Amino acid sequence: MPLLATAAILLFWVLLKARPIGLEKMLITKHSFFASFTKKERNRTLTSLLIFMGVGLLLDWAYKAGFTQIYTSTNDYNTAYLFISFFFALAINDVYFYFSHRFMHWKPIFTRVHYIHHQSHEPNPWSAFSFHPIEAVLQIAIVPIVALIIPIHIYVLIGFSSFMLLVSVYGHCGYELRANKPSIFNIFNNSIHHNQHHQFVKYNYGLYLNLWDRIFKTNHPTYTEVTDEFKQKERGEE
Ligand SMILES: [Zn+2]
Ligand SMILES: [Zn+2]
Repeated sequence: MPLLATAAILLFWVLLKARPIGLEKMLITKHSFFASFTKKERNRTLTSLLIFMGVGLLLDWAYKAGFTQIYTSTNDYNTAYLFISFFFALAINDVYFYFSHRFMHWKPIFTRVHYIHHQSHEPNPWSAFSFHPIEAVLQIAIVPIVALIIPIHIYVLIGFSSFMLLVSVYGHCGYELRANKPSIFNIFNNSIHHNQHHQFVKYNYGLYLNLWDRIFKTNHPTYTEVTDEFKQKERGEE
């Protein structure tokens, strides 16, 4: 898991450093991440990666002891289930993230734990895992939780963990990289969504789906408007 997380950070770092054409106008934060990145964030992220490794080792132990529902043979379940379990894992992750995130915004927890993550006012790839150690455990705990509650092939679990870590870094990269997507995809959160969470704090708690924030009316009032502005920028209408 730490290797996957590091790969996700490095992928975005290299991608953004290459400054593809049109990237600058998609900057959500005031400064690009080369200016906003702090050593504190990097050190906290490195600590989180060690915690991810510890949780990974615990999961390995639990798997060998037969406590998880991880399987390795594709004969155990049919091929369709490989896809179903991947999306099922994402759905569990989405619900878990929204409600655990709301919990972390409860004042006694926020002031002791989650405030660390919110010290990144201009998120960048190194902010994605810049957590208090307790939050690092809570965040990565979703991987063993999934492995405990649903039968999942080891490769699907790795694929799911990689996807989750990549989306986390995308949400913190500071740029909107897919503003001009067809409106049917508005059901998914974009990078602006989590960026606004770091700017305004009490809005936009969701991860993948813009569903829980809609149901609980926690979307920032300007989220759709700002997304539309970026859409126009990407189309070159501004
Ligand atoms: Zn938060
Ligand atoms: Zn964040």
